[in-house]
Amino acid sequence: MGGSELIGKEEKEALCEVIDRGAVLLRYGFDSQRKSIFRVREFEEKFASYAGSKYALAVSSGSASLHAALKAMGVGPGDEVITQAFTFVASAEAVIEAGATPVICDVDKSLNLDPEDFRQKITGKTKAVMPVHMLGAAADLDEITRIAGERGIAVLEDSCQACGSAYKGRKTGSLGLMGCFSFDYVKTITTGEGGMIVTDDENLYKKASEYHDHGHEHRTDIPRGMDTRTFPGFNFRMSELAGALGLVQLGRLERVLADQRKNKKLLKSKIDGNKAEFRLHHDEAGDGGDTLIFFLENCVTAARVEKSLSENGIPTKILPSALDWHFAGRWKHMRDLIKPENGEWKKTEELLNRAIAIPISVNMEEDLIQSMADAVNGAL
Ligand SMILES: *Cc1c(COP(=O)(O)O)cnc(C)c1O
Repeated sequence: MGGSELIGKEEKEALCEVIDRGAVLLRYGFDSQRKSIFRVREFEEKFASYAGSKYALAVSSGSASLHAALKAMGVGPGDEVITQAFTFVASAEAVIEAGATPVICDVDKSLNLDPEDFRQKITGKTKAVMPVHMLGAAADLDEITRIAGERGIAVLEDSCQACGSAYKGRKTGSLGLMGCFSFDYVKTITTGEGGMIVTDDENLYKKASEYHDHGHEHRTDIPRGMDTRTFPGFNFRMSELAGALGLVQLGRLERVLADQRKNKKLLKSKIDGNKAEFRLHHDEAGDGGDTLIFFLENCVTAARVEKSLSENGIPTKILPSALDWHFAGRWKHMRDLIKPENGEWKKTEELLNRAIAIPISVNMEEDLIQSMADAVNGAL
């Protein structure tokens, strides 16, 4: 599950320190009372340098990061944003909240945005494309950015499930015009609730920063109460407590990734690859090791394998049977808000229904990995 497995003394001390040194929980202002503690600001600076981006803006959730990024890019009513049929519902919700229309594509065998379907769904209204790096693994970013570049479409990476993952040597989230991350409790690192936006574009950074704080221009020459604004914003600020947690968890990120990658590699090496087809990776070395995914010949076999695993105490993660929040074909409650589809994403549904996803954790003993492999091979 990632960083949440490691929450301990350091997190506790970091929270107490904020309380002990002035207890200023707001990220802005109160300069004399806070005794130089600016944890959200420090978290942003460290995260930007980790991601390899010029700017980072911490926000209250991953959903808020997507929403604020879209607003900063000027996406609004009349615009279309292309994303994928296998993602958490928040990717589409963020587009809807910005007043724009989500256009949903099939996924390829990496279970991320299919570049060919993306190309076909571009219209004169397409403002942005939002590839999602699902379950720690990067989408086909070379193809996606090439097509987007040809058509003048902005790339906004939803890297909420892929914090620290990489694509050809660069951190996911840092390759598009803007990139978004989530620090909710089940993500790679956690601040309880929280998110981050990264970009190299100063103007987009400023817009997002103003939008996430009621339009505040954050002028340093006047008091906050007299601050100026040029457009209406909202409140998606991160609190200092979350910032303090984020700094500690960011310090744990390399360990989380290293352990997950090691555990996943070991489990994968023990599974009989003749009986299962492993998920396609566009950059396997950059995979964050969140899950081990393989495809079976059809959905009936997949359901039987899942049942057998569950009888042996091995849970699956989302795939194949817990898709309600992660497959656009199931989002009947927002059907009217998504651009009408003919295909119903049959290709995606077929892939998802015959995929098995085994969750990988940081803390996994070799014995456990062996017994998981035995259970998977037995089921196969
Ligand atoms: C978790 C997640 C989000 C939203 O993040 P929250 O912090 O839970 O709001 C967005 N997109 C994807 C792909 C996610 O997995």
